Parts: sequence; C-alpha cells; structure tokens
Amino acid sequence: MKTCTVQTVLSAVNQLAPKRFAEDWDNVGLLVGDRNAAVTKIFVCLDVRDENISQAIDLGAQLIVSHHPLIFRKMSDVRLDKPLGRHIARLIKSDIAVIAAHTNLDKTSGGVNDVLANQLGLVDVKIPDDEEISFVRLGRLPMPMTAADFARHVKKSLNAPTVRLVDAGDFMIERVGLCSGAGAEFILNAQFHGAQAFVTGDVKYHEAQAAVENKIHVVDAGHFATEFPIVRVLAEYLRDELKKFPVEVVEDTQSKDFFATV
Ligand SMILES: [Zn+2]
Repeated sequence: MKTCTVQTVLSAVNQLAPKRFAEDWDNVGLLVGDRNAAVTKIFVCLDVRDENISQAIDLGAQLIVSHHPLIFRKMSDVRLDKPLGRHIARLIKSDIAVIAAHTNLDKTSGGVNDVLANQLGLVDVKIPDDEEISFVRLGRLPMPMTAADFARHVKKSLNAPTVRLVDAGDFMIERVGLCSGAGAEFILNAQFHGAQAFVTGDVKYHEAQAAVENKIHVVDAGHFATEFPIVRVLAEYLRDELKKFPVEVVEDTQSKDFFATV
C-alpha cells in the first residue's frame, strides 16, 4: 500500500476546499509540520485546543485537520508561557502536523454552510444568484413555521443547548438564509434575497436591531453549534478520499461550546 503523507491529506483537503476560496485575511493550509511526513492517523476537530492536542497525542495521530486556524494573527514570538506558543511546542515535540481549512471550507460546495443547511433540513439550497462563491446559503423549509417553532427546530437540529431568537414580527418563515460561525453581516443581504429568517452565531445587539427593523427573524444558535457538524462530515470525506491508504481518521466528538447559559 502507498504511504499517506501530510501532503496527501493536504491535497485531499484542497480538493474539497480550494485554497483560493479563502479570504485574504485568513490563514489556511499546512500551519505546523512537514508535508513529507508519513501519516497513519488523522484527528479532525473544530479548534486546536489543549484537550484536542491531548486527544491527538493519546490517539497516536501525526496530523490534526481543524476548521479554525491555530495560527491566525501575525505571530511575533513562540513563548511557552503563552497558550499559542505552548500549543505549537506540544505539537512539534509530539511530531503532529496541523492543517486548517477555514473560510475556504465555509464557502465551498459541501462545506460548512452546506452541511448547516442540510442539518436544518432546508431544500432548494443555493447561493445568492449575484455571487459565484459565497458564505451565504439560501434555502426553503418544507413547511412554513412560526419564528418560535423555527427557533426550536434549529435548536433541536443542531443539538444546541440553547439558541437566541430575534423575533422580527408576526410573519411565518419559509425561506431561510444562513451563514455558519459569525455571519451577522450577511443578514440584510439574505433578506434582500427573500429570506424571512437567518441562522448564524455571534449576533450583536445592534445587528439584532437592524434585523427587526428590516423584518427578518434571526436565530443565533452560537458559533460552535453552527460549525461543529462539519467535523463529522470532513472526517467522513477524508476517510473516503484516503481509503486507498493505510490511514485512520478519527473525529472529535467531545468538544463543547465555550459558552454555557446559567
Ligand atoms: Zn468559525
């Protein structure tokens, strides 16, 4: 059997989520490690947290594939008394490479936003017709719902402990827009394209105000809950794509949202 290397996995990730789809400010691809290193175990997760590095070490993985980039802003030091420096040191000492697929995975067909649309049971899912690739998905509910029922539906579909509903008035929802993570900047764009509700995370007070004033309901299901479903799908994709190689792909099933409601 052929050897799977970090580069083999990088090529598979790039095939699903081409690097050119990433935003200019983003940092995707191979962030830590050697592209020629052999890989027999891959750990897939949303964030590269301490716990996730421990899981990868316990598993004997040589590679982590994450959605959020471990190294995002410009680094000016690698200090072991700071979290990021400590993470990088642990990874290097443990011979674990890190690949990130972030905004390229958000936008690509079959990526984070399509997975979210699918999870919500939307049909006729498309991107806004004035865009070639997009963070936004527009779709339809099989049956119209009230805002409160829709909020409950989102909560259940995403297995979210809680969601926040911005109720914009007494009208039913059939057409839904969405953007995983922090996508509130696209609420009015989705409304312009006919959405009666928008699903995202990280919504701020004045973004909620603008939504109400523009008559579009918003369900803030949280950054984590709108993105975590990609972990399983990305792991499945890699498992299938790398089936010719002696490589095992394990996904994170343990991470929880940083936020809790008390
Ligand atoms: Zn995110």
